[in-house]
Amino acid sequence: MYKDIYVLLDALSNSNIKARINSNLTVLDKRKLTRNLGILSRVDTTIDHIDPEINDKIRGFSEKTMSNLRWFKSKNIPLEITIPLSKKNCFDIERIYLELRKLKPKEIFIQPVDIFTKSLDEDYSLASLGKAELKIILDRLKPWARDYHRTRELGLMRNYYLKDKFPEGDCQMKKDLFVIDSDGAVYPCFHRHDLRCGNIYSDPPKSIMDDLAIKQNSIDIKKCFGPKCIPLF
Ligand code: SF4
Repeated sequence: MYKDIYVLLDALSNSNIKARINSNLTVLDKRKLTRNLGILSRVDTTIDHIDPEINDKIRGFSEKTMSNLRWFKSKNIPLEITIPLSKKNCFDIERIYLELRKLKPKEIFIQPVDIFTKSLDEDYSLASLGKAELKIILDRLKPWARDYHRTRELGLMRNYYLKDKFPEGDCQMKKDLFVIDSDGAVYPCFHRHDLRCGNIYSDPPKSIMDDLAIKQNSIDIKKCFGPKCIPLF
């Protein structure tokens, strides 16, 4: 958790601005958070597995994450959980999903991982699995797609993994979203750091937005699309 989060929440407490926390929730000062729970609109976290020993090997501290998630749930703060779908958890994905669903999160995202480091990619990415295994895994996502209205997303995964087909149309990053990093740098997409469009601390807003429009327009999704992009279509 960002160390000054409690100061930021204090500063927002007299405004109309709502805050979202995105964290692994392993370090939480509940006493300080309780001061401003009313301004939290959502708490987002990422969980790889519900078996602590497996999750701990991938991400760490799952007991703390789960107990803090339950605490937020008890305070009626809406939850959002992302489950990265990887070789480490894919055959258990239905069990993981059904367990996490008991917390009644507002959203559960199941997102195939896409890692550009070759050795890590072999360990994590689904790309090296055979089509028969991929079909079994994708079938296990049906309850999630049904409950969270993700049928389209599951269809895109099927197209990509089973039929080698790209989505039609443009992703949201090409159309109407952009990213400002913590250092102020602006990019059209989280995954396109090669398309930097200036910095909010040093460049005029108009020049940034003009450059952004040019760079967004230059994106050819067939060249940069990967499984990680599926939720953005
Ligand atoms: S296709 Fe993927 S990597 Fe390319 S701009 Fe869209 S979201 Fe980003």
